[in-house]
Amino acid sequence: MISFQQIEVKRSVQYACAGCGKKRQKSISVTHTINPFNVNESGQMKNAAEVRQGALDELGLRETQFLRHPLCTKCEPSSYAERKALCELRTATPVVIDGGKE
Ligand SMILES: [Zn+2]
Repeated sequence: MISFQQIEVKRSVQYACAGCGKKRQKSISVTHTINPFNVNESGQMKNAAEVRQGALDELGLRETQFLRHPLCTKCEPSSYAERKALCELRTATPVVIDGGKE
């Protein structure tokens, strides 16, 4: 078995929980690997710096999404339906209201 080099990026985020209002801290980590399937726009295998940048981009996105509706572990919903709704709330793109049409 071949093991690929892993690149892990971490960030800790401070937030006020949208459920209980308590100030919390969460650590988010993203791991990407350097491997032949991880290619850049020109089709070449990404080098360590490119893989790291890709991981940082994902980390930034995950932080942004979490902060749209931050919840501490106690307030995280447990049912599938609630989790799905929370996921949709966090990943939804902002609605742009265009007043100029119709
Ligand atoms: Zn909470």
